[in-house]
Amino acid sequence: MSESELREQIARFGRSLFMRGYSCGSSGNISVKLDDGVLVTPTNSCLGFLEPERISKVAFDGTHLAGDPPSKESFFHLALYEERQKDTAIVHLHSPYLVAVSCLADLNEENVLPPITAYYVMRVGKLPLVPYFRPGDKALADAVRKYARENHAMLLANHGPIVSGKTLDAAVYAAEELEETAKLYLLLDGRKIRLLNDQQIADLHEAFPN
Ligand code: ZN
Repeated sequence: MSESELREQIARFGRSLFMRGYSCGSSGNISVKLDDGVLVTPTNSCLGFLEPERISKVAFDGTHLAGDPPSKESFFHLALYEERQKDTAIVHLHSPYLVAVSCLADLNEENVLPPITAYYVMRVGKLPLVPYFRPGDKALADAVRKYARENHAMLLANHGPIVSGKTLDAAVYAAEELEETAKLYLLLDGRKIRLLNDQQIADLHEAFPN
């Protein structure tokens, strides 16, 4: 896909996520890796109203190359791309059910959401919790880097999810599946849950290898 088609695609997915309540105000950001840099949504932009030609382009070291100034969270996108060379897209949202889960005490930090549905297991698998950092704290990049080695999705404590994928649609669909799983998890709160067992999980990984 050409750079201008990718710019259009970012705007289209941004609008779709915004319209369905996955981001509010100027929260959340989307990026796509190119051969010569990264397209990332601009700082203070609303995912619902992105203008494709104004989407920022930055070099892999963060230098601003084109478009509006990049999101203040673009530094963790760059760190993640460095660790996950095969991934070409990242979606970061402040989607309400995942943010709610990210604020719960006593989470299993290795895997915040248990295997409640096949689709969560297939599209995400495991969701580690990244410790809390204040917005813009560059130390977050190192934390993201550490978790990115083995995970394409992670939940920032008291903040929201980061999901990467081999394509933008894969990253968006995984982020949507994750939000849905958080919603189900909260709906089931207080009830006895029948989780998928180890054999059912192994069977899914065998039938749908990443
Ligand atoms: Zn954020």
